[in-house]
Parts: sequence; structure tokens; C-alpha cells
Amino acid sequence: MPHGKPAGVACVQLLPDYRCALFGQPERPAFCVSLRPSEDMCGTSRVEALVYLNRLEKATM
Ligand code: SF4
Repeated sequence: MPHGKPAGVACVQLLPDYRCALFGQPERPAFCVSLRPSEDMCGTSRVEALVYLNRLEKATM
């Protein structure tokens, strides 16, 4: 995504099964490689993680 990923838009590298198409590849963005998930970020389910992500995206729009 040469102009960055807008809030609310899925990354173009996100596969239909929610895996990263670039995982383990040198083309994977440095930010993604450096991201260290935490319990606060992930919660206990995919739904909780999406709530957290939506909150971050709204805060950075
Ligand atoms: S890890 Fe980065 S490149 Fe991969 S799907 Fe997520 S945002 Fe996109």
C-alpha cells in the first residue's frame, strides 16, 4: 500500500484466512515485523482484538 493503509481498510496483503501473505518475506513492512502483540492488544478472542483495533484506528484517523 504505497500511500499507507487508511483506517478501516484491510491490508492488501491480508489473505482470506487472515494470514499475512508476506509473513517471513523480506518485503514485509518493518513496522509489521517489529510489532509485538500483547495481551492488551489481542484480548481473549478475535472479536476483542478487533474492538481494540477499531479503537486505535478511530483515534488515529
Ligand atoms: S502483517 Fe503487515 S503486511 Fe501482513 S497483513 Fe498485516 S498489516 Fe499487512
